[in-house]
Amino acid sequence: MRPTEVIVDLDAIHHNLAGLRKRVGQGRRILAAVKANAYGHGLVAVAHTCVSAGVDMLGVATVEEALELRQQDIKCPILMFAPESSDSAEEIVQHRITATVCEEEVASALSQAALKFGLTAKVHLNVDSGMGRGGLGLEEASEFAEKVAGLGGLKLEGVWTHFPVADQDEQFTTDQIGLFIRCLGKIEHRVGKIPIIHAANSAAVLKYPSSYFGMVRVGIAIYGLEPFEGASKMARLAPALTLKSRIVQLKQVPSGSGVSYGRRFIAQRPSWIATVPIGYADGYSRLLSGKAEVLVHGQRVPVAGTICMDQLMLDVTDAPGVRKGDEVVLIGQQGSIRITAEELAKKMNTINYEVVCRIGPRVPRVYISSRSEKETYL
Ligand SMILES: *Cc1c(COP(=O)(O)O)cnc(C)c1O
Repeated sequence: MRPTEVIVDLDAIHHNLAGLRKRVGQGRRILAAVKANAYGHGLVAVAHTCVSAGVDMLGVATVEEALELRQQDIKCPILMFAPESSDSAEEIVQHRITATVCEEEVASALSQAALKFGLTAKVHLNVDSGMGRGGLGLEEASEFAEKVAGLGGLKLEGVWTHFPVADQDEQFTTDQIGLFIRCLGKIEHRVGKIPIIHAANSAAVLKYPSSYFGMVRVGIAIYGLEPFEGASKMARLAPALTLKSRIVQLKQVPSGSGVSYGRRFIAQRPSWIATVPIGYADGYSRLLSGKAEVLVHGQRVPVAGTICMDQLMLDVTDAPGVRKGDEVVLIGQQGSIRITAEELAKKMNTINYEVVCRIGPRVPRVYISSRSEKETYL
C-alpha cells in the first residue's frame, strides 16, 4: 500500500466535544455536523465517536450521507440541513431521517410517505434571517409552520436559522438573533411550543451565548479546527487530523536541475530532492506548489516545484540525514512543530474547512483512540 494516510485521533474529537459541552451546559442538545465525510475525517467513525460522546443529533447535507449512517447502524437522530426534493421523501421517512423543509411540495410528499408507512416524520424549518441561502422568509415562516403542523404524519420538531458572519460581524449577528427570536414568537403563537430551536454554528458557540437556544450545531470545532482566526485562544481545540506520507525516493541533483512540471523549481545548488506519493488528486492542492512546507525529522522543509496529481517533491538539502522511508507530515505535528490546516488555508487563499474536506477518498483514514467506543463521558 502507498504510505499516504490520514490519521484521525478520536480522543481529540472526544476532548473537543467535552469542551463544547462544558461551554453550552448540560441542559442543551448538541448536534455534530458530520457532512462532507465528517469534514474529511471519515463519516462513520466520527459519527460513532460523536454518538458515544453523547451528542444528541448528527447533521448531514445529503440523503446519501444520512443513509450511509443508518446502514452503519447509527440510530441517533439525523438532521439533513439542505432541503431535499420530494423524490426522496419515502427513503427519508423510512429511515427516520429528520428533514429540513421550506417548501410545501416537499412537506406534503413527506406527509404522504409518513401516512403510507404509518410513521411520523420529524421535520425542522429553516428560517432565513440573513444567510441568504434558502430557507423561509421571516414573514412567511409562521404561516408555513401552521401548514406543516396541520399535515398528517408530520411532527414539527425544530426551527433553525444560520449565521453567515458569526465569525466576523457582531452587529449583524446580534441583529439576526433578534430577528430570529421575533420570528419564533410568531411561529409559536400559531403552532405552540417548538421542541428544538437552534442557530449556533461553531463560531457562534464561541462568541454568542445568546444564540444557543435549545441546541447548537457544531462542525469545525469538534475536529479541533478554528472557526475563525484566534478561536483556539478561546477554546482548547485539539486538531484531530494528521495527513502524512513517506519519502519513496531520494536523489541528489546538480545545480541548475529543474524539478517537476513547468520546471518552476530550479536547483540553485547541488540539492537533495525527495519524492512523496501524495498529490492534488489526494486533495493536497496544486495551489500549494512552491508555497507549502512539510515536516521531516521534526523540521520544516519546502515543497519543490509544481505539485503533481499523485506525487510531490521536497527540497531536503537543508535537512541532514534524511533517508528513503522517512515520515513526512503534511498536516499535523512532528516533534515539537505543527503544520495546521489553517496555515495551508492561508497559502491557498481559502479556509481550513476546505483544506480538510478536500482530502479525497483515495487516502485511507486510520483511527487511533485510547478509549473504548462504548464509553460516554459528556
Ligand atoms: C456545516 C453547518 C454547520 C456547522 O458549521 P461549523 O462552522 O462547521 O460549526 C451548522 N449548521 C449548518 C446549517 C451547516 O450547514
